Amino acid sequence: MLMNAHARDKACFGASWNLATVAELEVICATESCETVRDEVLGRHTSMGVGGSTPLMVWPSHPEAVAKVLEWCADRGLAWRTLGGGSNILVSDAGVIEPVINLTNLVDGANFQATTAKLPSGMLTAQALRTTIRSGLAGLVWSTGLPGTIGGAVAGNAGCWGGQMADVVASIDLIDANGKWQTLENKELTWSYRRLQLPATIGPSAVIVSATVNLRPEDSSELTGRSYKLQQLKRADQPVGVRNSGCIFKNPNPNHSAGWLIEQAACKGIGIGKAQVSTLHGNFLINRGGATFADIEKLITRVQTAVQEQSGIALEEEICRW
Ligand SMILES: Cc1cc2nc3c(=O)[nH]c(=O)nc-3n(C[C@H](O)[C@H](O)[C@H](O)COP(=O)(O)OP(=O)(O)OC[C@H]3O[C@@H](n4cnc5c(N)ncnc54)[C@H](O)[C@@H]3O)c2cc1C
Repeated sequence: MLMNAHARDKACFGASWNLATVAELEVICATESCETVRDEVLGRHTSMGVGGSTPLMVWPSHPEAVAKVLEWCADRGLAWRTLGGGSNILVSDAGVIEPVINLTNLVDGANFQATTAKLPSGMLTAQALRTTIRSGLAGLVWSTGLPGTIGGAVAGNAGCWGGQMADVVASIDLIDANGKWQTLENKELTWSYRRLQLPATIGPSAVIVSATVNLRPEDSSELTGRSYKLQQLKRADQPVGVRNSGCIFKNPNPNHSAGWLIEQAACKGIGIGKAQVSTLHGNFLINRGGATFADIEKLITRVQTAVQEQSGIALEEEICRW
């Protein structure tokens, strides 16, 4: 079975974290000039805004620091999790027991050439899009309106408007679970709908530190116009200015979008606690302010049940659960 982004960071490391190992990791991070915060609330780092805490959040600012942290963890059999922009993650109220490696400071080293660009994993996808458009480079216009980072987009093969990361990535640089740097060409990667599977030799646990994408020269004002139109379409169709995680469910097949099925099952606008199915787009669950993970989880189940009863189709989650 193909590994999804969620399974990727559930590394099968046997040992358990405790106060002593967390403190030791803090020291390692300090030697690598990584910022760290203990007991950081993950809801502050996800677009849905719910979720408990991690014992330690680590912000590496260079790939060598990621390698050092991963090698240190591997030597002790300790697992970790990877966070980008948090726009595709739903965190439980209990939080997680592992430290979280937050990649949003990994932003150095972007390099835009005539037909390629190397993008650091912490770079916002929107920023990469803006820069390519300004430079007259086509290839990322489809990502208009996509929140989050390049690393998260690659890890989950993000896509919209007929485009997806799988179609533009030339290669990725990653740090494997043993802290070793590896470069993989696109043909070595297995992509599917919202999934990237790394080769078995690497295994499911790795941190993507950069991606090189293929681009082509095109008139900058043409690209601006196309992107603007997509932005308008997205604004008309999706909730803006409220907390959400994008589409909660995968589209079950090309003929049935999850949003349409949810609308047919009369679920648009229904709510539990402060969680609500968007009245604009059935596949968006919104946090109206103060929703808990439990509210959202119950609402997901209620929608799945209603759709199953109405259409006989089982909706599968697209978001990564922690
Ligand atoms: C309003 C809204 C609209 C959206 N529209 C779309 C859309 O049109 N199409 C679409 O595909 N998605 C969409 N999404 C979902 C989400 O924005 C994308 O999946 C995005 O690419 C996730 O990036 P991120 O940095 O936020 O990843 P995160 O949410 O931080 O992480 C997602 C997963 O990737 C892993 N990960 C993150 N960074 C790395 C890394 N560097 N190395 C290894 N693993 C990593 C995480 O561990 C996690 O499992 C939308 C979300 C919102 C809130």
